[in-house]
Amino acid sequence: MSEFDYDLFVIGAGSGGVRASRVAAAHGAKVAVAEEYRIGGTCVIRGCVPKKLLVYGSHFADELHDAARYGWTVDQPRFDWPTLRDTVLRDVERIEAAYTSTLDNNRVEHFHERAVIAGPNTVRLASGRELTARYILVAVGAWPVMPAFEGSDLCITSNEVFHLPALPKRVVIQGAGYIAMEFAGIFNALGCHVTVVNRSDVILRSYDEAMRDRLLQITMARGIEYRFNSPIRKVARQDDGSLLVHAGDHEPIPADTVLIATGRRPKTDGLGLENAGIALGANGQIPVDEYSKTSCDSIYAVGDVTDRVQLTPIAIREGHAVADGLFGGNRRTIAYDSIPSAVFSQPPIAAVGLTEAEARDQYGEVRIFTSDFRPMKNIFAERHERGLYKLVVDAGTDRVLGVHMIGPDSPEILQAAAIAVRAGLTKADFDDTVALHPSMAEELVLMR
Ligand code: NDP
Repeated sequence: MSEFDYDLFVIGAGSGGVRASRVAAAHGAKVAVAEEYRIGGTCVIRGCVPKKLLVYGSHFADELHDAARYGWTVDQPRFDWPTLRDTVLRDVERIEAAYTSTLDNNRVEHFHERAVIAGPNTVRLASGRELTARYILVAVGAWPVMPAFEGSDLCITSNEVFHLPALPKRVVIQGAGYIAMEFAGIFNALGCHVTVVNRSDVILRSYDEAMRDRLLQITMARGIEYRFNSPIRKVARQDDGSLLVHAGDHEPIPADTVLIATGRRPKTDGLGLENAGIALGANGQIPVDEYSKTSCDSIYAVGDVTDRVQLTPIAIREGHAVADGLFGGNRRTIAYDSIPSAVFSQPPIAAVGLTEAEARDQYGEVRIFTSDFRPMKNIFAERHERGLYKLVVDAGTDRVLGVHMIGPDSPEILQAAAIAVRAGLTKADFDDTVALHPSMAEELVLMR
């Protein structure tokens, strides 16, 4: 008989927690997971998955417009927000059920209540019940940051945006990061008037400047307005029920919905980490070593709560590695370099490796290759938007240090290019690869 109730107790059934639970259980561990909300976490319930479905839904605006060029007659297309919203929410339920089955099939016990740390080997459930475990894994994720200003309670975050009762006519979005740019694209395509307000004068700070400039130019041409260097000072309710947004020194902006997308903070408040002697980092994150172990030997943490890289596939890898390390005899670390990422803006941006500016800083001499092209699909549709691909190459070794893309389907194309960057392939390897014609992706091997 073990001295503990469980071998592993996981707090949080999101991407990292579910992966760690099922892998640990498959290795033979006795596992339980506690989740206070819904199984699946941010990605499945109110993040990547429903967002991507909304992106797909909003793309029909372009497709229907282009259809006539291809000979189709589409009489008076109309869009119905409740239909899209409810279909997306039903799909989220389907995936939540699939995640739940995964836990059941692997005999992972789940508790639908909040759990906090009561000691190095003890968790306390909301019901007051205490359970012990040889190891505890904290995978509680992050939560949207709401900056302090008058009227912030009138605004929504990405937590609420999937449940809007009606499609707003005018949307103001604060922030110019991932969530802001993705929802700016969705709302704009669905016919809403969108204004993006940001505290600085940049969008998508971590991406290559040329891609950001292209996105700015295209989205402005599509009708999205920007107010830079303008954090929101105040949001006030008008007599007619609408909102007035005071940002920077600009004229107040009328809005029906104000979406705040100013980053996500690790959700560690009240988690009881002090009961195991774990001190939080400056952003509320749980500091961990390269094996995701906290300062307490029996407690691990993965995913957004550690504030390393806030991306689902990273949480999944970290959770998998913890389970393999603790119960599968395979202790290993995760490679955090060359992580591909994408912004599902319209058009989307995708990137892997170093931006041109980062490469110049780190390598000094770099060679830059670009392809600035109008996709065939856009030419035929008489759309003037151009795609832009960039290769950043180390002048000394010819190694491709970064691939940056903006244009239709760029995330789908980039995943394969990320393998090449990760493998350390050279520009000559790209050049030696025969083009796949006709495609946008062929531009990757045709840059000279
Ligand atoms: P981001 O970090 O991407 O962007 C935050 C934005 O808010 C920036 O424009 C920033 O301005 C601004 N900002 C930050 N703090 C404040 C503040 N206190 N007051 C006013 N403005 C502020 O955060 P998101 O919320 O968009 O997304 C959170 C995370 O979720 C992302 O970092 C990403 O890891 C993940 N995510 C990933 C997606 C994907 O992979 N496609 C999609 C959605 C989310 P400035 O740049 O000027 O500092």
